[in-house]
Amino acid sequence: MIDLRSDTATLPTPQMREAMHHAKLGDATLGEDPEVNKLEVFAAKMLGKEAALFVSSGTQSNLLALLTHCQRGDEYICGQDMHCYKYEGGGAAVLGSIQPQPLAMDTDGTINLDHVNAAIKPEADDHYAKTRLFCLENTINGKALPLSYLHKARTFCNQHKLKMHLDGARLFNAALASNVPAKDIAAPFDSLSLCLSKSLGAPVGSLLLGSQNFIQEAKRWRKMLGGGMRQAGTLAAAGHYALTHHIDRLAEDHNKAKHLAERLSKHPELEISTGSVQTNMVFIKEPAAGAQALCAFLKNNNILASPRYDKLRLVLHLDIQDEDIEIIGNAFDLFFNQGAQGHTP
Ligand SMILES: *Cc1c(COP(=O)(O)O)cnc(C)c1O
Repeated sequence: MIDLRSDTATLPTPQMREAMHHAKLGDATLGEDPEVNKLEVFAAKMLGKEAALFVSSGTQSNLLALLTHCQRGDEYICGQDMHCYKYEGGGAAVLGSIQPQPLAMDTDGTINLDHVNAAIKPEADDHYAKTRLFCLENTINGKALPLSYLHKARTFCNQHKLKMHLDGARLFNAALASNVPAKDIAAPFDSLSLCLSKSLGAPVGSLLLGSQNFIQEAKRWRKMLGGGMRQAGTLAAAGHYALTHHIDRLAEDHNKAKHLAERLSKHPELEISTGSVQTNMVFIKEPAAGAQALCAFLKNNNILASPRYDKLRLVLHLDIQDEDIEIIGNAFDLFFNQGAQGHTP
């Protein structure tokens, strides 16, 4: 199967499995797992933050950030389509009594700061929740946020006494696409989350980063949520391997995405803007035939893709080979040559 549903589809490489196999283990909840400690120190240094916390998932990482920055009755401002609002089960509201204030995003994934300004609640008025935090996501829909925007947002947040959190699930894809060191992208934020299990190819795990005090507090919440792990070094070793071996190769995924977009753009039925492919994702506006029919056809051709609203998102990653691009292209050719019937070959 060629799995284009997400870059979470990757399996650990033999070398990564080897690193996992040799991991020295201890009780991470007691701070005694050498691999977890090594990973956290390494990541914090790499991204210019005081401390890091190894957590089970990106969802948990974002939730910990929200619980740590905000109290019951507080509010965070984010984008309407951001993961921490839309795809995390409303965790901040359910578990933290934290109110989300989602705002419309521009096509580049930024949120107009005038709109953010207008959404900030007057603290002196008891009618309102207290606005505490501004969240951004990078990459967002496969695009990198402009660094200049991040700096503007930081100045804005300082003026309004807001903390800033970055959902950097694919931070290193953003760094590569915008040609900015990951550390510089991280710098304006009080906290950031990144996924080891996405484009970096680790099987499990995310990292939350921030100040020493912030991470200490987040650790307490992690324990409360049942996220304290014991001999987690096997997984941390995979994460460390990912951070030391799988960042430079992300350029291959970005190239594969460009090639795939070019290969598919010959079909007028597909609305696809090749120029907008910045990272490892190709977005296709729903073909007239219907994304469901197309995905069903692809599945019969051993290609997995899933429609999301009116779009088809194809994600390139470590386990997609260069020669797979042609196989995928051929399957699309076949689909459109046969018409929209979705006949299986
Ligand atoms: C995948 C993802 C998450 C959540 O990560 P999980 O490990 O799946 O919980 C958060 N934010 C973004 C932008 C993501 O893509």
